[in-house]
Amino acid sequence: MEKYNHGEIEKKWQKKWAETNIYRATESQEKPKYYVLDMFPYPSGAGLHVGHPKGYIATDVFARMKMMQGFNVLHPMGWDAFGLPAENYAIKNKIHPRIAVEQNIAAFKSQLEKFGFTYDWDREINTSEPRFYRWTQWIFLQLFKQGLAYQSKEPINWCPSCKTGLANEDLEGGKCERCGSEIERKPMRQWVLKITDYADRLLADLQELPDWEESIKEMQKNWIGKSEGATIKFPISDSKNPNDQKYLEVFTTRLDTIYGCTYCVVAPEHPLLLELGERMQKPGRGRKIC
Ligand SMILES: [Zn+2]
Repeated sequence: MEKYNHGEIEKKWQKKWAETNIYRATESQEKPKYYVLDMFPYPSGAGLHVGHPKGYIATDVFARMKMMQGFNVLHPMGWDAFGLPAENYAIKNKIHPRIAVEQNIAAFKSQLEKFGFTYDWDREINTSEPRFYRWTQWIFLQLFKQGLAYQSKEPINWCPSCKTGLANEDLEGGKCERCGSEIERKPMRQWVLKITDYADRLLADLQELPDWEESIKEMQKNWIGKSEGATIKFPISDSKNPNDQKYLEVFTTRLDTIYGCTYCVVAPEHPLLLELGERMQKPGRGRKIC
């Protein structure tokens, strides 16, 4: 058997696929539709890392199989290009973020093309382009009008080195997944979306996904994080003025064990702590909270 000359063969066929637009999805109704969506890469580095193709190859095999089974497959690709990691890359490399993102996208794209993936590049999107983010802004405004987007001072996971907030999923053993720095819990005024209003629906609709792995559904449930219980108000014992009675509000899922409560612990960022701390600093005054 002749040796497989991958350099020559890949180049020849990829050129042919590009010329004939073989992976372009049309709105044809003749075949059943199938939508294969990858997580878009974040072009905040000079090139792909090995984790990118690891996922993309698997999805591509699946998209190809569906094409061969006669489906009209839409398999797009795009760039999750907005945000602090792109800015940090720009700062570090002393380059304007728009130029850095453009350069990184060009590098990512040429690398992805070498794999010969089944992407319909006509559908390419870039989240840092105004024609894309005008729609995310529009969605935000609709949420805001409905009272579903509001500002709140919440403690967040803050990476002092990346100067960015991190989701719990971005932590590895309490450290920043990206740079390994120790994370600080920092109260910060931020916009939040009231997903809790939809907790019941999100949970109920998981039942409508029979093909999903149980472990994935469990992760979704934990992420939705709904727990049923009661809010209890503990009066603070030294509130002198009955009209100014202060309470410490506590949520519990185990109201039946409340009689075993001997003390309450207040988080370091709790606003009540500042107030109580001031009063406690006056000499000769120890305070019992509960
Ligand atoms: Zn970091």
